[in-house]
Amino acid sequence: MKCEIIAVGSEMLTPYRQDTNSLYMTEKLNGLGITVAYKSIVGDRLNDIAGAIRTALTRVDIVAIIGGLGPTNDDLTREAVVQALGITLRRDPVQVAALHSRAAQLRISMSSNNLKQAEVIEGAIVMPNKNGSAPGQWLDTAYSNYRKIIFMVPGPPNECKPLFDEECLPRIRAVAPEKHIATRVLKAAMIAESKCDELLEPIYKAYPDIETTILAHAGDIQLNLSCTKGALAVAQNRVDELALKLEDALGEWMYSANGETLEQILMYYLGIRQATLAVAESCTGGMLSERLTSIAGSSLSFAGGVVAYSNALKTSMLDVSEELINRYGSVSSEVALAMAEGIRNKTGATLGISITGIAGPSGGSSDKPVGLVYLALSDAHQNEVVERKFNGDRERIREFATLQAMDLVRRRLM
Ligand code: ATP
Ligand code: MG
Repeated sequence: MKCEIIAVGSEMLTPYRQDTNSLYMTEKLNGLGITVAYKSIVGDRLNDIAGAIRTALTRVDIVAIIGGLGPTNDDLTREAVVQALGITLRRDPVQVAALHSRAAQLRISMSSNNLKQAEVIEGAIVMPNKNGSAPGQWLDTAYSNYRKIIFMVPGPPNECKPLFDEECLPRIRAVAPEKHIATRVLKAAMIAESKCDELLEPIYKAYPDIETTILAHAGDIQLNLSCTKGALAVAQNRVDELALKLEDALGEWMYSANGETLEQILMYYLGIRQATLAVAESCTGGMLSERLTSIAGSSLSFAGGVVAYSNALKTSMLDVSEELINRYGSVSSEVALAMAEGIRNKTGATLGISITGIAGPSGGSSDKPVGLVYLALSDAHQNEVVERKFNGDRERIREFATLQAMDLVRRRLM
């Protein structure tokens, strides 16, 4: 079964607002084996909304409409549905009474345009909205001799989501053919997306019944596997079989077989090794600490760290000698190592990690270009330093450096 989601609202066609409700709905619909084949965003114009609905009816089984159910003049979803289908609206006395009693309960006087929300589409079921005044509507109808479901939910996310979960999902489940979806998320770090795909494509191509997508962001690769079958165990076996082969091919690049973030994995390994980590950051300005502390319970393993941006602070806080900085420059393997050792000694943590680099856009030179980053990892037995040259803008270079730092720690711990 295919679904199209139509988000109604001119504000979502501006640079300031996005349709986020559809992401939520898509996840749930996919869980029922329903493919979201199209999404549209339409402004608050009657003919445009009706046109979008007509188009959707020609190409999907379920049309989900979000927003435009409120009381104001620009709330036109009900009118658009009846226009698209050539049917009528009627004012439902039950809904009128519900609006009056809601207003009385909230001790507000109801203006007459509120009654718009009591207009019900011919043949539709009203779905009560516990968190707002505009109810949803569910219409199970025929269009050109095909069965079509059209449902409408209000736009505010705190109304849309619960109404969708409680009223729409059970109804969709009842009409959707029984299907089961098994998914897996694998993650790898610091492998180029092109190399990753070259390595993995021959493997996943052999599983045409599994949808494999690769998402990449600043060195972080996420592989989503999804398989739909009549029985869950069959789907799960297929996905697990492919996942195992991909894991083998990814080898040491892979850090998660079940969708965890790199910081979650780090905290997990630090925990089982009973190790602590301290960080000394320069060009990432706290980004690494921010990511590590985003994990609940990180205080057990994360000691803390310093953002030593200036040379003076590298010396006073991390005991990096002035002479070393003068001789090699603050972006150098020597200084990175001294920073990592320095933070480890100062904090008594098991592991010290450091990042120093040139995030740009200025500050680069021919022998030390923008994107050059040194990272060092120090523990009681071993020091190591890595030189990397990342491409991209300032933000991307900082994100790459942060991920590389976490990956260094992960490899040491694993
Ligand atoms: P209301 O009774 O509040 O008017 P409504 O169903 O008419 O409900 P809209 O007027 O279309 O809803 O939208 C209300 C608010 O909900 C908007 O200001 C917008 O910020 C938010 N909203 C609408 N649609 C979406 C969407 N698809 N994703 C996220 N937010 C949305
Ligand atoms: Mg509205």
